Amino acid sequence: MATETWSSRFCPRKSCALFGLSGKANVRPRGWIGSRKDIRLLWCTTCGFRVSERRRTALVLAKLSPERFHSVAQHLTEGCGVRATARLCGVTPKTVLRVTGT
Ligand SMILES: [Zn+2]
Repeated sequence: MATETWSSRFCPRKSCALFGLSGKANVRPRGWIGSRKDIRLLWCTTCGFRVSERRRTALVLAKLSPERFHSVAQHLTEGCGVRATARLCGVTPKTVLRVTGT
């Protein structure tokens, strides 16, 4: 696993003194969340705000693992239809539609 550098992260809380400022080393990992405990919980040492590393990403509401999510996205990008992608990735068509954001 690649070593994550946290210096590029910033606090998303608008009332925080370091809101939006990266490189301040105030955001650090604080544990794992999710049913599989595979989502990193980040913590701002300045204001104490805790936030999922998936916040404001395409993965925020995904219940899939990142690998399977990316597989579905790649199949869609290559032009596979919703049903074909669902069959190839072993997910339901509804899940494929959720990945597309529709
Ligand atoms: Zn903060």
